Amino acid sequence: MSNNKYKILVVEDDRNILSMIQTVLDTNGYQVLTAQRCQQGILMLTSHVPDLVVLDLGLPDMDGEEFIRITRRNSMIPIIVLSARTEEHDKVSALDLGANDYITKPFGTAELLARVRASLRINRINLQASIPTSVFTLGDLEINYDRRQVAVGSKTVHVTQTEFNILSFLSRHCGKVMTYSAIISSIWGTMDDGSVKKLQVNMANIRKKLGCKPGEARYIINELGVGYRMLDQQE
Ligand code: CA
Repeated sequence: MSNNKYKILVVEDDRNILSMIQTVLDTNGYQVLTAQRCQQGILMLTSHVPDLVVLDLGLPDMDGEEFIRITRRNSMIPIIVLSARTEEHDKVSALDLGANDYITKPFGTAELLARVRASLRINRINLQASIPTSVFTLGDLEINYDRRQVAVGSKTVHVTQTEFNILSFLSRHCGKVMTYSAIISSIWGTMDDGSVKKLQVNMANIRKKLGCKPGEARYIINELGVGYRMLDQQE
């Protein structure tokens, strides 16, 4: 395993879960740092400079959301939120605060490892992207930001300005779940009662134009009740 250059900080107060995660990550070649309190985790961010954080939301000294808020003031480190909270608004609020991904307990080790790999990969791509590329590709989908053109294979896809803006926004954040409110505020500026519906209608048109069949997880994943995620290039 060649993961050992990656340091992962796990902030979790449940000893059983903490030790399970620690074992899984350690077995897979990651360096693991652990904290059972929010404050301790925040201190370890500066003292140990990890590459990724796996964060429980329900912590004894402070809410995990507070951890995200504080961390995001000066760091873009990937944060995977881990929580027993299955309610959609908790996922939405953690993602809106800047968490990169969300895993609901109970979860399998394969899922945890896949999410960790994905978050580390996306971060690496973002760090390398010092020269902004004007073309995004995902399989046979191509989005040219400068020309504002979309193509699937050799065929040009005719999209409206709004549809292009949505595709552009999702692709610039590929691999990351973007909540309804994040997309809406980026596209229309403000959110009102009809915004989510308007977004869903646009998204249905986009999917149709890209040749996606109903329910097909191609290019864009519909995270029910939360938002949308464009796949990253290696998924
Ligand atoms: Ca907990």
